Amino acid sequence: MKIKLENLYKTFEDTIAVNNLNLEIKDGELISILGPSGCGKSTTLFLIAGLHSPDSGNIYFGDKIVNKVEAEDRGIGMVFQNYALYPHMSVLKNIMFPLEMQGFNKKEREEMAIEMAKITKIEEFLNRKPSQLSGGQQQRVAIARALVKKPKILLLDEPLSNLDARLRIEMREEIKRIQKEVNITTIFVTHDQEEAMSISDRILLMKDGICQQYDTPKNMYTKPKNKFVAKFLGNPPINFIETKYKDKYRVEILGSDISLDLCKFPNIINMEDKNIILGIRPEDFIITTEENALFSAKVKSMQTMGKEIYITAILDKNIEITLITSWDFNIELEDILYLNIKNLHVF
Ligand code: ATP
Repeated sequence: MKIKLENLYKTFEDTIAVNNLNLEIKDGELISILGPSGCGKSTTLFLIAGLHSPDSGNIYFGDKIVNKVEAEDRGIGMVFQNYALYPHMSVLKNIMFPLEMQGFNKKEREEMAIEMAKITKIEEFLNRKPSQLSGGQQQRVAIARALVKKPKILLLDEPLSNLDARLRIEMREEIKRIQKEVNITTIFVTHDQEEAMSISDRILLMKDGICQQYDTPKNMYTKPKNKFVAKFLGNPPINFIETKYKDKYRVEILGSDISLDLCKFPNIINMEDKNIILGIRPEDFIITTEENALFSAKVKSMQTMGKEIYITAILDKNIEITLITSWDFNIELEDILYLNIKNLHVF
């Protein structure tokens, strides 16, 4: 089912939780709503679910406006962070539960529940109670229960936040697999950028109720529309260096004597007299020789992260940058690194 949000607003007293949101989700797509706490992720999800009504704007499922359709009639399945399973019921009964009012007989209900248990790989636990399952298995039950009625839309509100780091990675792959297998339009709320990047066809990144960018994970990372998007995605975060445009390809780093010749990066052109913020991702620095360097930096601290080293280095005065190198470089504190860059963002 295709979803469209048109000029959507939702306020709570003096807070604008969702501010003029416009969005189209294609049939069968999995999108994530990402952003810092309080940015309006859950409110957007609840508007789509019918648990909140918008102050203004429209929500379309397919070509139909559903603003006035009750939540239970919207044909959605929902999964929450806390699973919300019925503790006294077996896994099978939990999954069958949403079918009770649907007019299916017991045998049909059982067959449908077992089919979903197979897809979500919890078939062997059907007779157990939720308390006898691991967090990941309980979340699979919650997903099976959300999908058993064959909804057209699946809404997931931070579904993995109660799981440990390894299980989160396993479950996000599972969610993607199940979602593709049943081919259901899915909206996944998370504040974890890695989770959103790994699972989504597209990401909606919000701040203060406003869409900052709605794009594929790759575009979002390689072509961020503003500094907020650039900084939100990527770990360690992107470096921002404040500069002033001098002439053709030259900029001067503010608060330093360094001027850079950026002729390799034509996106710098035509910014006469402007202050320009350069965005350089830590992995986009190249350690090179003095003659090939754009600038040099002195190593201030180092942190080994598996096969990589995160280096903080001083460009000049108090201007710090973070870069990533592989640990086979022999680098010591106080070393001077000669650096070039392979990619540049301009804000
Ligand atoms: P989190 O990641 O912390 O769950 P979120 O991005 O999901 O945050 P929302 O829960 O959508 O954010 O909240 C958006 C804004 O609306 C916040 O400022 C929040 O305080 C406010 N808000 C949400 N629900 C209500 C409510 N029922 N009454 C008053 N204010 C609310």
